[in-house]
Amino acid sequence: MKRKEFAVIGLGRFGGSMVKALSEEGVEVLAIDNDEDKVNEYANIASHAVVGDTTDEAVLKSLGIRNFDHVIVAIGDNIQASILTTLILKELGVKHITVKATNDYHEKVLSRIGADQVVHPERDMGRRIAHNIVSNNVLDYLELSDEHSIVEIVASRRLGGYTLIDLDIRAKYGINIVAIKRGKNIIVSPQANEGIKQGDILIVIGADKDIDRFEKNLV
Ligand code: ADP
Repeated sequence: MKRKEFAVIGLGRFGGSMVKALSEEGVEVLAIDNDEDKVNEYANIASHAVVGDTTDEAVLKSLGIRNFDHVIVAIGDNIQASILTTLILKELGVKHITVKATNDYHEKVLSRIGADQVVHPERDMGRRIAHNIVSNNVLDYLELSDEHSIVEIVASRRLGGYTLIDLDIRAKYGINIVAIKRGKNIIVSPQANEGIKQGDILIVIGADKDIDRFEKNLV
């Protein structure tokens, strides 16, 4: 099977770290920026690094961009260039396009013009850290939709010593504990008679409002 080929457009903080991470994963990655200094910075990290203005269709064509499996547009501040680049990639028939959005308006436009995945790293990271700071027991969370998440919650003393059946969490809160992390061990799909120990990390899935209720009442 042919190895997947990636291209990253825009070598700012986000695009740059994408290039580094992809290279570390051992995949082929083409790095593109219209700033020569940026391109030089990544010349030894990416498989190939080229200078080019990606709002110019001819530039993207000459790079054979449509043969790449996945193109990441990481042009941040220049929203116009980000939108135009995405539009051209779409028109050229690139199979999978991920674009970084800088604000909600930008995100909306990118989705409308057919970006396959729109990421909003500053907003998401900001929310994540805020959540973490506000709720002492929440270690991490992953948004599944606007209303549902998977959350890692530390079991407090109030939960210690009870089994899942004692707590009846699914019926009372409508949420599910999908795994329990205890030190180095992880109990996936715990049985109803599994006991919870103080300090266990509960991995919980459900609606945000239900998880919130669980957290406030029990944890
Ligand atoms: P971040 O917030 O992730 O640091 P920036 O907006 O600072 O993102 O960086 C975006 C990068 O995209 C810059 O290195 C810039 O030179 C590059 N860039 C901007 N416009 C174009 C374009 N039309 N073609 C190619 N690269 C571009």
